[in-house]
Amino acid sequence: LQDLTEEHSLDMARRNFIADASHEFQTPLTSIGVTAEFLLEEEDKESREGYLRSILEQQRRLTELVDDMLLLSRLESRPPQEEMEDLDLVELVELVTLEHREHPLASEVTFSTSLPEDALCKGRRDDLIRAIGNVVGNGVKYVRKRFDDRPGGAISISLEDRDSLWVLTVDDNGVGISETLGASIFERFNRGDSSRTRQGWGQGGYGLGLAIAKRIVDSHGGTIELIRSQGGATFEISLPQSKRP
Ligand code: ADP
Repeated sequence: LQDLTEEHSLDMARRNFIADASHEFQTPLTSIGVTAEFLLEEEDKESREGYLRSILEQQRRLTELVDDMLLLSRLESRPPQEEMEDLDLVELVELVTLEHREHPLASEVTFSTSLPEDALCKGRRDDLIRAIGNVVGNGVKYVRKRFDDRPGGAISISLEDRDSLWVLTVDDNGVGISETLGASIFERFNRGDSSRTRQGWGQGGYGLGLAIAKRIVDSHGGTIELIRSQGGATFEISLPQSKRP
């Protein structure tokens, strides 16, 4: 009986996934169609270029959506194949921070970091970079949603040793998160109302980034939590430490 119940809930999950995903595809697909129709009627060269650019932007976002869905389904359907390797989390965090700090859209965002000398753990490098990147990227995205290109936005990133775990804290003073969303923020396709209004910052807007981050962190025996959601947001990722050889 338990097998049947499990089978049933898997089936439900699959159906929900397909329904949610199809829904996400509808808007950009409709928009591409409408824009293409305008394009057919339009003679002015500049307006035609504008329509074409808009089609390309939608295409880019659809590609991102498909990539994220494939990654999520890979993470959900089977345990990762790649072996865990010895990693230094400090190096990964520095890499991710640098990438975001240097981004032209983040020029008015202040980054601060507090990192130990090293932080050894076992993991899959690319996956962990992705998970940390999604959380830091959100910080930048939602700080910008509040401050835009004005100064005042800040992100602080710290890594500390806590009871044989490495705890990475990513803190921002962006728009914050409503209580309702906060309760299910790691579920796929869950996102805030305004998440799609800003274009042009990394991936996202579909509510898959944190679902992906959670699957990755879980598969490393770690946890990811939202620990503050008012006046900005704070996320914590904890990962088991590995011993120095
Ligand atoms: P998205 O691609 O929409 O950003 P995520 O899964 O990464 O998807 O995040 C889900 C939702 O959680 C977002 O739509 C946004 O509303 C909210 N969120 C995530 N991180 C933050 C943050 N640092 N500040 C404010 N809201 C956030």
